[in-house]
Amino acid sequence: MRRSTAERHDSGGPAARGHRQGVRGERATLTEILAEVSAQALQGETLEEVLQRIVDCITRHLPVAIASIILLDEEGTHFVQEVWAGKLELDLPFGMPWPIERGAAGRCARTGEAQLIADVEHDPDYVPGNAHVRSEYILPIRHRSRLHGVLNLEATQADFFTLEVRAMFDAVASQIAGTIHLARVVRELELANRKLEQLSMSDGLTGIANRRCFDQRLGEEWTRHLRDRRPLALLLVDVDCFKPLNDACGHLYGDECLRELARLSSTMIERDDVLVARYGGEELALLLPRSDQREARRRAEHLRRRVEKLALAHPASAIAPHVTVSIGVCAMRPGGTQSPDALIDAADRALYAAKARGRNRVVVGRAHPPGAP
Ligand code: GH3
Ligand code: MG
Ligand code: MG
Repeated sequence: MRRSTAERHDSGGPAARGHRQGVRGERATLTEILAEVSAQALQGETLEEVLQRIVDCITRHLPVAIASIILLDEEGTHFVQEVWAGKLELDLPFGMPWPIERGAAGRCARTGEAQLIADVEHDPDYVPGNAHVRSEYILPIRHRSRLHGVLNLEATQADFFTLEVRAMFDAVASQIAGTIHLARVVRELELANRKLEQLSMSDGLTGIANRRCFDQRLGEEWTRHLRDRRPLALLLVDVDCFKPLNDACGHLYGDECLRELARLSSTMIERDDVLVARYGGEELALLLPRSDQREARRRAEHLRRRVEKLALAHPASAIAPHVTVSIGVCAMRPGGTQSPDALIDAADRALYAAKARGRNRVVVGRAHPPGAP
């Protein structure tokens, strides 16, 4: 936002700079400016960089004190970002997001019409950015039907924005509208892709990682641990008598219990390198990097007790009046001839053993071939 970077000015002082701008401004033809605006904009990688290059290019070629682009949100009701160049000295009286009910820029966005302010002192909506500014020209940046924001230009001369100068800025604004549109579309696509990627890796019911995410991480961690020769541990957590719970209390209550278990498992482990995933229907998997059998067992036992303490009612359990879990544990140093399935297989067998021995317990399994830590 404009205030935090108030030091961005060219070297050489305002007077020298103003002179240079004036000379360049006279020399530069509209075609040259337009060509450079698009060349500069094309070099920007992010939307912010594109905008910055455009306003820098305007202040480099033309004797304006301030040039800024203020972007609107998708609804067109608030300004959400301002990128500027020139000599901006004063703070905005209101922060971002900035409602279009306020300021001369807001008037431009509301009406969709360019605003010429020949004398800023007599415009009630003018928001001062520099005490020497006398005139301002604000014009909409529109691509097809979408109003992306406004181009704001401020000059120290009262009569700077002549018909000719305004026509030139109108041309600049339509030129940059397409560029901004493209940069925004790219950014929106990137955001949408990120969101999709996130959705494809998370479980819809509980919000934790899903099986796809687990499989991917297990493969990555396995390779890493093979290289580092460190033990990798897996906890397979299965709710006891979950079918009778559904039958007695309904699937919605069953769902709620699964959400609670997922929340507890994710929040009770303070290590942020541990992956907590929904492995299957009522099974969770916890993948613990760089953990040996002792640590894995300790964490499994802790989780089992915390589930008991949650005391989620289970009127149909043969074990206790509340929800309990059985946990199969395995920790192993990946070996060159093994696949990650060896870890899953060992934890799964341990889980079966926990069920067979009466449920609501932790059993630690050994991987085959022997060699587990
Ligand atoms: P055990 O103690 O041996 O683990 O017995 P269990 O009843 O928990 O095991 P079983 O495999 O027989 O039943 C698991 C049940 O989990 C069956 C299925 O309907 C239920 N289930 C699977 N996914 C969901 C879900 O997303 N929501 C709910 N409410 N139930 C689910
Ligand atoms: Mg199960
Ligand atoms: Mg079960």
